[in-house]
Amino acid sequence: MAGKQDPRTIAVANGIASDEVFGTVTPPIYLSSTFAFSGFERHRGYEYSRTANPGRDLLADTLAKLEGGAGAVVTASGMAAVDLVLSLANRGDLVVAPHDCYGGTYRLLAARRDRGHFDLAFVDQSDANAIAAVFARKPALVLIETPSNPLMRVVDIRAIAAQAKKAAARVAVDNTFLSPALQRPIALGADLVIHSTTKYINGHSDVVGGAVVCANEADAAALSHWANVTGSIGSPFDAYLTLRGVRTLFPRIERQQENAAAVAAFLAGRDEVAAVHYPGLASHPSHAIAKTQQAGFGAMLSFDLAGGTDAVRRFVEAVRVFTLAESLGGVESLVAHPATMTHAGMGAEARAAAGIGDGLLRLSVGLEAEADLIADLETALKAAG
Ligand SMILES: *Cc1c(COP(=O)(O)O)cnc(C)c1O
Repeated sequence: MAGKQDPRTIAVANGIASDEVFGTVTPPIYLSSTFAFSGFERHRGYEYSRTANPGRDLLADTLAKLEGGAGAVVTASGMAAVDLVLSLANRGDLVVAPHDCYGGTYRLLAARRDRGHFDLAFVDQSDANAIAAVFARKPALVLIETPSNPLMRVVDIRAIAAQAKKAAARVAVDNTFLSPALQRPIALGADLVIHSTTKYINGHSDVVGGAVVCANEADAAALSHWANVTGSIGSPFDAYLTLRGVRTLFPRIERQQENAAAVAAFLAGRDEVAAVHYPGLASHPSHAIAKTQQAGFGAMLSFDLAGGTDAVRRFVEAVRVFTLAESLGGVESLVAHPATMTHAGMGAEARAAAGIGDGLLRLSVGLEAEADLIADLETALKAAG
């Protein structure tokens, strides 16, 4: 039935009314850890839920179709998804990663490098010279995060994928910040797409999960095999909730990005704000490239408070609609302070090199009424001084 369906339809309808036993409209959840064989050496397609589970498979199938991939593996977390991709790198291989990547990814990469699992180069992926220099070292795997966290710098996926193809390196794009509703990296040349489904894909801040979508079947089979070997798979209940979130992915993120655009415009006009980092603003260095590879600018942004750490403390204690919390992509608006929260583990030196100052705040803009969001920010900015 699917094939040429619009992604909006796939998000809502994939697997709906497919139950052949009772005709349930919503696909059921199968919590069973194990499945009865129908006879000696005969099973019905499922044997054991670490290896495969019908609900988890349906979520994987839906995500693969939304990203335009050949297959997907659903993992227990976004970090498990990143680690699953890293299983493709062997001792002596060079892995390239953005210098301003997600803090947890930075920690995982550095720890595996320190244990000798692979070689590692952190680069500024918006710097064409740095990219050319690192490709000269013949990397095996290039990780891209775009827009980057927390400065929303956009990396040209097409350009890096084209160089990677020539160098026979795989490209994996962490698409957590936009979701397939706003960016489809495989169509731009990526081999793998990583998600923390904890964020927009689930969208309700009540599941930690992840996924890897593969452009080709061989990678999907290899990663599915490895997820079974290591047991890094997602649970049936998490898969059920996450698919429930996927049903509304498009309208959620579209409405959230409208709010984000309004918030960015508001912040850009305030004296208390030294800089706003939102690719939707014409002043953002990545505005032009974002337009060519994204279907929208997303609902994440960050900004520098002119008053530094003291202003940050006053600001985060004054907000009432925004909540001070890590994570992003849920229906509720959150504010985070990268230097002490999401990026604390990176260390002051690496943060400074990546341009993450002590006055930087990151917003995940939710589905609340725009006027309430802006009024809340205005109150907090006045408190910050
Ligand atoms: C949250 C996040 C991760 C890690 O995902 P978890 O689900 O928290 O394990 C990886 N990459 C990005 C860009 C993220 O935002």
